[in-house]
Amino acid sequence: MGKILHYFGAGPAALPFEVKQRIQKDIIEYEDSKLSILELSHRSEYFSNILDRSKTLLRELYAIPDNYQILFMAGGATLQFDAVPLNFSGKAKYASYLDTGFWSRKAGKLAKKYLDVKFVAGLIDHANEICCLSSSEWQVDAQSAYLHVTPNETINGVEFVGVGNVEVPVVADLTSCMLMQNIDVSKFGVLYAATQKSLGIAGLSVVIIRNDLLGGASQITPDLLRYDLHVENNSIVNTIPVFACYVAMLMLLWVKEQGGISVMVEQAKLRSKLLYDAVDSNSKLINNICKKNRSTINVAFTSNDQGVVTGLLDTAEKEGLIGLQGHRRAGGVRASMYNGTSIDAAKKLARLIRLA
Ligand code: PMP
Repeated sequence: MGKILHYFGAGPAALPFEVKQRIQKDIIEYEDSKLSILELSHRSEYFSNILDRSKTLLRELYAIPDNYQILFMAGGATLQFDAVPLNFSGKAKYASYLDTGFWSRKAGKLAKKYLDVKFVAGLIDHANEICCLSSSEWQVDAQSAYLHVTPNETINGVEFVGVGNVEVPVVADLTSCMLMQNIDVSKFGVLYAATQKSLGIAGLSVVIIRNDLLGGASQITPDLLRYDLHVENNSIVNTIPVFACYVAMLMLLWVKEQGGISVMVEQAKLRSKLLYDAVDSNSKLINNICKKNRSTINVAFTSNDQGVVTGLLDTAEKEGLIGLQGHRRAGGVRASMYNGTSIDAAKKLARLIRLA
């Protein structure tokens, strides 16, 4: 295989070149520690600085109010699908899950082990297009301990931004849009994201939680999933994935250097517009998500002619554009464009989409 030029995988996702260069250097020696970043102790001062710096950067980038804690926890988002209900189920009986696609359904399905789950319709079929219902149309049971939402559904490429005023605390899975959507944290109770898309590599999740929502974990909650214990121990409950935390810090630094989240949001809009314009201009291709809810991060489309899909994937691969195969459940083509994807990569892909 030749040189990989542009990677559109959905996660682990493309990292910015500068971040990879820095990692390469720190693998030999981290700062003046005489140790590789891979060898650094989770109890060292170096690591404590990495965590503190990451928290400060994230707090600054999202203007996170003081009454929210930031936690780093081992494991990905699927583990948080258990952690969230467990951390409420000591006190609560019901939770609502906004159904916007595969990941929100999976989150709700796992939560059923601990709470009564009520799914709330989040999508509507509108003149053959799929749209998100606006938050004022969500039918949320006021007895719910929380409403879980997935603002960017990675597989079908559906996105909504903002949650308006919901009566119960809102818990958001930001795995697929962390640092890529403008978010008013004060509208949420809990926000979480696995880090392998826009915040680095796999093995870690970041959780942002409002103070008053701590302390509701049921007895059966494993220590490693307890939010209160992570707060008490400054996220070091056991040997945390040091390397993944360090890469998250580099990504936060990189986003800050680029100009912050609004710059990331604008770039995502630009990249995705290039692709959607190309898809819409090609009558052989189909994307049936209504324009306002088309994901600016995961652009998914297909064709009634499978030959067109395979032809496009083949040509793209020959030109060094890889990772474009749609999710195994959805088929078709999916271009995932997290913060490490350049505008140039999107331009090259847009040209091939027009020619498909
Ligand atoms: N939520 C969303 C929105 C996702 O995109 C994914 C992974 N693609 C997950 C949850 C699951 O993440 P993990 O593989 O870290 O469990």
